[in-house]
Amino acid sequence: MKFVHDTGSLLASMPAYVPGESYTVKECIEEVKDKESKRSLQIYFEKLKVLEPSKNSVEKVRRVAKELGERLSETDVKVIALALDLNAIILSDDYGVLNVATYLGLEAKPVRTKGIRGNVVWINYCPICKTEYPPDVEVCPRCGAKVIKRPRFKTSK
Ligand SMILES: [Zn+2]
Repeated sequence: MKFVHDTGSLLASMPAYVPGESYTVKECIEEVKDKESKRSLQIYFEKLKVLEPSKNSVEKVRRVAKELGERLSETDVKVIALALDLNAIILSDDYGVLNVATYLGLEAKPVRTKGIRGNVVWINYCPICKTEYPPDVEVCPRCGAKVIKRPRFKTSK
């Protein structure tokens, strides 16, 4: 199973949690700017392959976005084009990205928002000792690490 992550998906550290192969475009990496996300970027960076989409796919995505009246950023276009090249599942919270991707026959899943079909369930979790906690616990009582929110990813297939 292949996944293409947009910036939102990278910020949610999704590459660390999804099964199979993870891909993104270099523009998304550049958009991951805040410190905390940079740190999590290091955690999953080895799992993440950065590729450039084909020109054909970029053109196709631009054409479809125009047809649908979606204003996509250049980064959005490249994310969708890469998913088209790889026949991968797109992880994004951008409505326009999800819309265009679905129109192109790709499988697209939202990240932070509750899934359209309830695909993502958030759990509270210590990244160090892997203990799960109730939503109100912010610091792990066992090892003192900051508890993070983590999606429990369910694929519909
Ligand atoms: Zn812990």
